[in-house]
Amino acid sequence: MTSSLRPSDSDRRRLEDDDRRFLWHPFTQMQAWEKEPPLVIERGEGPWLWDIHGRRYLDGVSSLWTNVHGHRHPRLDAAVREQLDRVAHSTLLGLSNVPAIRLARKLVEIAPKGLTRVFFSDNGSTAVEVGLKIAFQHFQQRRPAEPRRTRFVRFRHAYHGDTLGSVSVGGIELFHSIYKPLLFDAFAAESPYCYRCPLGKTFPDCGIACLGSLEEVLGGHGAEVAAVVVEPLVQGAAGMIVQPPGWLARVAALTRRAGALLLADEVAVGFGRTGTLFACESEGVRPDILALAKGITGGYLPLAATLVTEEIYRSFLGAPEEFRTFFHGHTYTGNPLAAAVALATIEVFESEGTLERLRPVLSHLSRRLEDVRTLPHVGDVRQRGVLVGIELVRDRATKAEYSPAEQVGARVCRACRPRGVILRPLGNVVVLNPPLCVGIPEVDLLVDAVKAAIAEVTGA
Ligand SMILES: *Cc1c(COP(=O)(O)O)cnc(C)c1O
Repeated sequence: MTSSLRPSDSDRRRLEDDDRRFLWHPFTQMQAWEKEPPLVIERGEGPWLWDIHGRRYLDGVSSLWTNVHGHRHPRLDAAVREQLDRVAHSTLLGLSNVPAIRLARKLVEIAPKGLTRVFFSDNGSTAVEVGLKIAFQHFQQRRPAEPRRTRFVRFRHAYHGDTLGSVSVGGIELFHSIYKPLLFDAFAAESPYCYRCPLGKTFPDCGIACLGSLEEVLGGHGAEVAAVVVEPLVQGAAGMIVQPPGWLARVAALTRRAGALLLADEVAVGFGRTGTLFACESEGVRPDILALAKGITGGYLPLAATLVTEEIYRSFLGAPEEFRTFFHGHTYTGNPLAAAVALATIEVFESEGTLERLRPVLSHLSRRLEDVRTLPHVGDVRQRGVLVGIELVRDRATKAEYSPAEQVGARVCRACRPRGVILRPLGNVVVLNPPLCVGIPEVDLLVDAVKAAIAEVTGA
């Protein structure tokens, strides 16, 4: 970056003031936000971000779970620039474009077997929303003798995005309760939040015990269910709730037995974050519908994809007057710049051996997290791949929670900043989700910072 583009002193003040005058930040209580100078990012490189004052931070949550190979990766930068020299946007409605075709082929090659068709949109919520509508319409279009499945199964603590369909299959009370009158009704099943198991079990027994509730729903209403919607291996937004081994495979088997579709939402867990390219792989699960977003472009541009099986795709074929068309599409669907950088993101996984390189780093992260586990106000530490949730509690013996007013998660993340690390909590859970390009020194910085910050804020 040339120095002329770097903000001057007065620019910096103006930016900080204007942020508070003109912006409305997502998931943010703006009353509190307006009282403090915002942290304004000016540039990034690798796992690092710099603010307008030139201070460097480790991007500890991958710019909201999106960044994969680091900021300003040369291959990814080049992919955007090269595409920019051709065309920035053209539509998939009535036309096609080169990067969207190449990316669709590549996604089918790397995705779990059986997913053969790619429908593009531009964010995780729409990827799920598209999956829900496809599942619903698929069953409306089957032969008359077959059941018209119209219902969905959601899991407690699930998060699938913020559009109304996605919220309808979500299960986070804090985010979702106010919108209840706007939502459709889905069957709810328990999820294996083993640290606070509703059935009083612990990891991993809680997983099997919780399946009873899915069995009950499918036993009573299985023939009405179009799809079971699940976040494979980790419920991210709920606070990185890690499922016991075998849980996902059992969910898939129960879903199949009921004749329903499995909609796997890999928006958060896809693209290497759990240690394999897709989370479903590790349990040999083949979903019928797969939702992808966040990491798909390496954190560069908004893009999402919903992959489906050939059987689902074929149920939409017919003459125009049969109205089996999927009447859904977003303006920027299959955007060429986004598709080009997504393709480059997947190629870098291959050319740099990202997941192999990461393996010792993940072992190191697991070892280092043991230091955090011993802190008196750390109730639970959950890890799967680079996804980490550190649940803070007032009292370890009773698992008593801190009240929301105490903002303990937010205060810990705030205390990480002077230590050179940016984090964002989920309630009382401190989340770590670094880019896959981190090495051992970055893991050490991250864990040292979070450990010191927790000790400082919880007075331990
Ligand atoms: C983030 C997320 C979404 C929503 O994605 P957006 O791009 O924010 O709409 C959906 N599902 C899961 C599992 C997510 O983590």
